[in-house]
Amino acid sequence: MTEKTDPPVAVPWHALPIDETYERLSTGSRGLSSEEAARRQKQYGKNVLPAARPPGLAEIVLHQFKSPLIYILLVAGVISVLIGDVKDAGFIMLVVLINAVIGTAQEWKAEQSALQLQILLQVMASLRRDDAWRSLPAEEAVIGDLVLLESGNRVPADIRLLHAANLTVDESLLTGESAAVQKTVGVLREKIPVSDRSNMAYAGSTVVTGRGCGVVTGTGTRTEVGMIARAVSGTESAKPPLLIRMEEFSRKVGILIIAASMVMAAVALSKGTPPVEVFFLAVALVVAAIPEGLPVAITVALSIAASRMARRNVIVRKLAAVESLGSCTTIATDKTGTLTVNQQTVRVLLIPKAEPIEVSGAGYTPEGEILLAGTAALPAPMTAAVRRLARAAVICNEGSLYREDSQWVHHGDAMDVAFLSLAYKAGLEPDRVRNSVLKVAEVPFESEQMYAAVYYREEGDTQVHLAVKGALEAVLPHCTTMTTADGAVPIDAGAVERHLVDLMENGYRVLVVAEGTVSSPPGDDPELEDARPDLSLLGLVGFIDPLRPDVREAVGVAHGAGIDVVMITGDHPRTALTIARELDIARSVEEVMTGQELEGLGDPTLPSYATAIDRIRVFARVSPVQKMEIVDLMVRRGHFVAVTGDGVNDAPALRRANIGVAMGSGTDVAKDTASMIVTDDNFSSIVAGVEEGRFAYDNIRKATYLLISTGLSEVVLFILALLAGLPLPLLAVQLLWLNLVTNGIQGVALSFEAGEEGAMQRRPRDPEEGIFNALMLKETLLSGMTIGIVAFSTFWWLIGTGMEESAARNLLLLLMVLFENFHVFNCRSEYRSLFRVPLRNNTVLVAGVVLMQGLHILSLHVPFMQDLLGLAPVSLEQWFTCLVVAGIVIVVMEAFKWFEFRNGPAGGRGQAGSAA
Ligand code: ADP
Ligand code: MG
Repeated sequence: MTEKTDPPVAVPWHALPIDETYERLSTGSRGLSSEEAARRQKQYGKNVLPAARPPGLAEIVLHQFKSPLIYILLVAGVISVLIGDVKDAGFIMLVVLINAVIGTAQEWKAEQSALQLQILLQVMASLRRDDAWRSLPAEEAVIGDLVLLESGNRVPADIRLLHAANLTVDESLLTGESAAVQKTVGVLREKIPVSDRSNMAYAGSTVVTGRGCGVVTGTGTRTEVGMIARAVSGTESAKPPLLIRMEEFSRKVGILIIAASMVMAAVALSKGTPPVEVFFLAVALVVAAIPEGLPVAITVALSIAASRMARRNVIVRKLAAVESLGSCTTIATDKTGTLTVNQQTVRVLLIPKAEPIEVSGAGYTPEGEILLAGTAALPAPMTAAVRRLARAAVICNEGSLYREDSQWVHHGDAMDVAFLSLAYKAGLEPDRVRNSVLKVAEVPFESEQMYAAVYYREEGDTQVHLAVKGALEAVLPHCTTMTTADGAVPIDAGAVERHLVDLMENGYRVLVVAEGTVSSPPGDDPELEDARPDLSLLGLVGFIDPLRPDVREAVGVAHGAGIDVVMITGDHPRTALTIARELDIARSVEEVMTGQELEGLGDPTLPSYATAIDRIRVFARVSPVQKMEIVDLMVRRGHFVAVTGDGVNDAPALRRANIGVAMGSGTDVAKDTASMIVTDDNFSSIVAGVEEGRFAYDNIRKATYLLISTGLSEVVLFILALLAGLPLPLLAVQLLWLNLVTNGIQGVALSFEAGEEGAMQRRPRDPEEGIFNALMLKETLLSGMTIGIVAFSTFWWLIGTGMEESAARNLLLLLMVLFENFHVFNCRSEYRSLFRVPLRNNTVLVAGVVLMQGLHILSLHVPFMQDLLGLAPVSLEQWFTCLVVAGIVIVVMEAFKWFEFRNGPAGGRGQAGSAA
């Protein structure tokens, strides 16, 4: 953001040859040193755009006053002043202020935690520094840096391309054109529009396919997007649908309450109550009964959940995702990296017509041995065959594995790095191998085509060779021979396939390596289908990718919570099933389907398609399009689906899912599309997220329960008093005190409840279901009526004994405060006895309740407050009696819960009610 030097005159980079580009940027094919990069960053600033600023404190404070309720109160305040009642006006102002302070504090906190989450969502870029490729935050890029681009990357800055292999880029942000454009490296004419500069890649666009490399020509505001000065890093500010629904709900309740107060006001007026008193009463009742604390409580609950999720490695990009995770009914997960650790290690090598070879060592290091099964050393011809295979796999490789400060560092695809580790074990130096050949063309790995290939020339040789590695299905059709330790023999496809199946049934992921020659260098289409090379199979390589240790348990928890777990993978069905079995995701082949079989089912909109895939737990060898179709179908069949993905190709499926989950190590495109990101790539974190989502939704229900039932109780109290011809049971200011000061704080405190035991033993809730299901309705009505009726009876009895109206109100207000103090504990669980919810689960609430009761007792004794609220001290005996009477609401609700849930573990039935 630091703008320190004037931008250099606009240079037509696309029209410059590469040498001149290097020269103008004072860089070269080796990139920059870190000192030079630091110097340039100091000079030009970081590679960032001025972001849309989050709302400041002043804005948040102002926001608190933008509510119809506050307007009503302000009008009431003005009227008080007009009729000379300055004291009441002062109190109303005080209430408005307290409200604003609480609201500001909450919103500020939510805003801060949203900000922190944003920081975690950093984009990385591959930059060449000090002669090595490093993964650094994109904001570190400076002009002159060399950058590597790969499908799925967001282009970190404006770049003049030096190398492009099948590179296509989505520049819709810049040009509005949604089709990806092909990139090349040739020099262009100077006078052409941005959209035609095919040798440039611009910041803000994303790489759709292929690989590329280039030099940074502009960063931060000195990029094409920077010039349009559109803040693309806009923070999500869309309201969560739940919040919208609740605001809508509050509005409806509000209208109802206003109508009811009008009726009551009319009745009171007809009975001769002074109009001013009636007006204030109507205002107070409206304020009392409208659950205006609800949106605040919901926002707080959601943002607390978001930060609790972050602690469990789940970053939500939109608050709405918190709620949706809680109602997830199906998790469709990929395999590699999510269920497994994605630490691929070569374990077995099968050289044609030779005994199996074992490879030892773990992780991405060169330590390990290559031996014949058993522990015998390899005979010389086999060592040569292994080297030959390893060499091909190094040439056709995009990873890197090197030593830095006595540590082994690796970059790139896990399979590629595993091959490099194998090469070291076979006695090869990957860098030396790479430098000994001249790359002519390549087919970079993309998961659709399932292989990668590199065309190259040996030093001093004109023949074009080819090194290929990939899935057997993709490579074998091009192999005519296989290379044994004693030379090439015709391929025996049957034998090779039998070996493959054998390895897969033992849980290995298998890749094959092949090499060959072509008569002429490939043209624009180096793909195997077009080049038609004669390949010779060098061998089968079996990788082990250990399961993540906690995944089995997490799958169990998901099943216990009524959530289906489905695997969707690009890997082979055998390997997939072996892993699915170990994790209890699937049991038999009946539950496995491949992409080819899916295709055979015909149109995905046919009902037969749906029934056929219903029982399937493992989808293997599926294409990204099929993945999206599967997800789409699940969604249409009413499942609420969380889908994981990491590649560019996963974006459509992530978008189609109810909850798109991107992996932390995944591509920028996936992260941009997803609604949440799992930072540690771990399946268990998704399950943890579901749990937090359920907790959050439960807490929202609790706050709703409290606020609606207490509002109801006050309306009941007033209606009964009016019908019985009693004086007004509470003054306007007393009602305001009760609701805005005491109860408002409690409602928010409920959002802090720690998760309730058993949340993951219930079935997922119906996403269509409103908060007011049958259970909620029953509990709200019962508790609201109980408080209202008991309060009315108390007042009626007090007046009956001939007590002064004001004295009776004083006691009634104390009783109501106590009722609310008690009732909030009922609301801590819809299912379980309040005595079984540990107090330590919500110390905020306990402290809040004690504080509120203390504050009220204090007010009874402070002359200023006495005056304002019409209070007077009560005797200990009176206080104690009120306490006992208020206890009725606990007895009633405890009895209800016991009766409702006596036949079984709490929870099962309550969630199955109908929508409100
Ligand atoms: P997954 O769903 O398990 O992540 P992918 O879509 O990544 O599967 O890979 C599909 C297939 O492509 C793999 O089964 C493997 O045979 C092949 N493959 C994976 N990575 C590479 C690579 N770096 N080079 C060549 N082939 C690969
Ligand atoms: Mg993969």
